[in-house]
Amino acid sequence: MTATSFTVLFAVALATMVGTRLWLARRQIAHVAAHRDRVPDAFAGRVALPAHHKAADYTTAKQMLLRVEVVVDALVLLAFTFGGGLAALVAWTGGLPLGALWQDVTLIGAVIAIGAAISLPFSWYATFVIEERFGFNRMTLSLWLSDLVKGLALGIVFGLPLLLLVLWLMREAGDRWWIMAWGAWMAFQLLALVLYPTVIAPLFNRFDPLPAGEARERIESLLARCGFQSSGLYVMDGSKRSGHGNAYFTGFGRAKRVVFFDTLLARLSGDELEAVLAHELGHFKLRHVLKRIALSAALSLVFLAALAWLMREPWFYAGLGVPAALVNDAFGRPGVALSLFLLVFPVFTFALSPLAASYSRRHEFEADAFAARTASGSALVQALVKLYEDNASTLTPDPVHSAFYDSHPPAAIRVARLQAAAS
Ligand SMILES: [Zn+2]
Repeated sequence: MTATSFTVLFAVALATMVGTRLWLARRQIAHVAAHRDRVPDAFAGRVALPAHHKAADYTTAKQMLLRVEVVVDALVLLAFTFGGGLAALVAWTGGLPLGALWQDVTLIGAVIAIGAAISLPFSWYATFVIEERFGFNRMTLSLWLSDLVKGLALGIVFGLPLLLLVLWLMREAGDRWWIMAWGAWMAFQLLALVLYPTVIAPLFNRFDPLPAGEARERIESLLARCGFQSSGLYVMDGSKRSGHGNAYFTGFGRAKRVVFFDTLLARLSGDELEAVLAHELGHFKLRHVLKRIALSAALSLVFLAALAWLMREPWFYAGLGVPAALVNDAFGRPGVALSLFLLVFPVFTFALSPLAASYSRRHEFEADAFAARTASGSALVQALVKLYEDNASTLTPDPVHSAFYDSHPPAAIRVARLQAAAS
């Protein structure tokens, strides 16, 4: 591969990604607009027309913001690569009176900080303009800022040691550094899984035990029926930030917890909650969680092997805008390869999105079937209809957009399958 052919390959991949994302956004907006006037037959009488209008407008508002973000992200990527942005940062950090390892840490820190600073206005707009306009936002600016500071602190406490270790391995561990880095990454993921429910999540939310009552009894009996060990049922104050509702499992082994958002608890009846929990339980029982962890472990190994190969090829740097004079320096500074890789990697893996989405939708269908067997399919349908309505999720997504991105099947198909199984 020559530098020029790699430049062409990258430019074509980037143009394809940007073009596809904008095309899909346009399709989604057009499809939702074309079906805005009428609640689809499957939901007639269950979802009111004003709620259907709200879902259409909410979907459109999010897609409009996404279109701007797609274009800005592509421009930032071009500025980093062919615009010489990364090369300037490499030269700047190379002149800092620090050891090579800390020069690399500063380089990667700068790339991440610039990316985060650019995405910040989008996150602010999504929360304080879009979510606010549709009545979902419960955040204050001070809560938003304190979340930001906590996130930054966590990134430094957990991310910095990992980054130091990986950069050190890249420099010192020889040709097989990527296998050791993979081991470190897996250990880090495992640690995150343990620390998330007990240490990290409580920094952001309050967790109270689920109060005694009908809901608790039904849920405990469901867990017992499925032979599910759990160390607790909790209610989280999700309403502190947003009106959207959810339920999830966290942790693993006997330390598993079941967490309900207070917003969900307030909205669903006992049998609906039971059905939603049965769906989540299905993901565990059918080993979806394990399969995902195994798949992501395998993919991380492949990606690290790709990085180990690319970092030794001069065309990888020169093809992405690092000038020839800096390429030799870059061989002694693994941080350059790592930052380039982190920047351009999503462009090349974008083509995998539909595969990942379809894999996830298959699991959703299986978890729905599990819920229908162990709890009630019709209660799950009722709960889903309430959740679609409350969250202003569109009932009429564009099929191509949905096939490409959606981790969950379109509402109409999902409900139709559950109803077919129930009858
Ligand atoms: Zn699910």
